[in-house]
Amino acid sequence: MNQLGTQCGVPTPKAAEEGLVVSRRRLLGGAAAAVGAATLVQAGFQPALAAAPAEVQALVLETVTGPIKGSDVERAMAHEHLYVDFNGPTDPAYMDVDWSVALGACVNAANKLRAQGVNLMIEWTNLGVGRNVLLLRHVARRAGLNIVCPTGIYKSLVPPEFAGMSIDELAAIFVRELTKGVNGTGIRVGFIKIATTETGATESDTFVHKAAGIAAKEVGCTIALHSPHFAATKGVVKVLEEEGVSLDRFVWGHAQPSKTEEHKELAARGATVQYDAISAHSDPFFHGPVDDESMLDRIEAMVKAGFDKQVVVSTDASVYVHPPKSQYDRTNTYLYGYFEAKLQKRLGEAMAAQVLRDNVIRAFRRGDKVT
Ligand SMILES: [Zn+2]
Repeated sequence: MNQLGTQCGVPTPKAAEEGLVVSRRRLLGGAAAAVGAATLVQAGFQPALAAAPAEVQALVLETVTGPIKGSDVERAMAHEHLYVDFNGPTDPAYMDVDWSVALGACVNAANKLRAQGVNLMIEWTNLGVGRNVLLLRHVARRAGLNIVCPTGIYKSLVPPEFAGMSIDELAAIFVRELTKGVNGTGIRVGFIKIATTETGATESDTFVHKAAGIAAKEVGCTIALHSPHFAATKGVVKVLEEEGVSLDRFVWGHAQPSKTEEHKELAARGATVQYDAISAHSDPFFHGPVDDESMLDRIEAMVKAGFDKQVVVSTDASVYVHPPKSQYDRTNTYLYGYFEAKLQKRLGEAMAAQVLRDNVIRAFRRGDKVT
């Protein structure tokens, strides 16, 4: 199931299979126009601005329905959630919901995104907050949405069955999920998502971070971090680097509350910086900025500093939240419904496509050592 071209991923547009650029927002220019225009029109697509870089088109993403190539991706979302459970894995209520309702809600949400042309979602729900790979695969198949999901544990929400494990044993579980499959299935994860307590990593956070570092080094995959504040982020980065992780395989999630200078400091060392409160009206969690202008200012600052390949954005919305009272203020359709046009106006269509699509593929490509 992991061989490209056999049972790989959900159906993609014909044009994508032929290796053509499918972003309708890109206007063909130069050589790309000569090569692709006729076929694109034939395939029913509007001309696109410029061919996405060949190196991005050739990258491989490990989705819950198998590997896909960058060239299969139309529109992408860098940090989203479908099912999330905030009860914690030791609460009897954890994962105890009417799954037909949860599935229906997630399929409906995925269909809305598909209607906007989104066909790649990087799902950030990891162990401890309700990761359910069977739900994700079901949604992927029903909606035709490619979903990449992570291994890794959220802060101290370690599943009880992992209690007493050593760091190496935990790392081995992460590696197994990245290279073989999850819970006896053939569903493989595509990256490692970790989280730090916002004021600084606790001992149990660091235990998980070290295991993540060991696994990421072995597999050559990306580590994505939940961390709004720079001081805590730097602490985690230090631990990861001690395990041999390179920052060019590191995504700093929730970066927007930190200063632009801090974003640039980590980007200069290879990190990808993520602004993921797009569509929020307020940020009661981290007290960071949420308005579009602030997000656009941050993206522009990164681009102007030469880090145009190291910035990604998303809404970090959650579709089905258990318990319902934990639902928070985000709208995943806002990214392509409204924000994309503002980003295009600010930075041009080519750069908007690069930030919204190409950079996501690059940042979340599967492990270099996964075959
Ligand atoms: Zn999230």
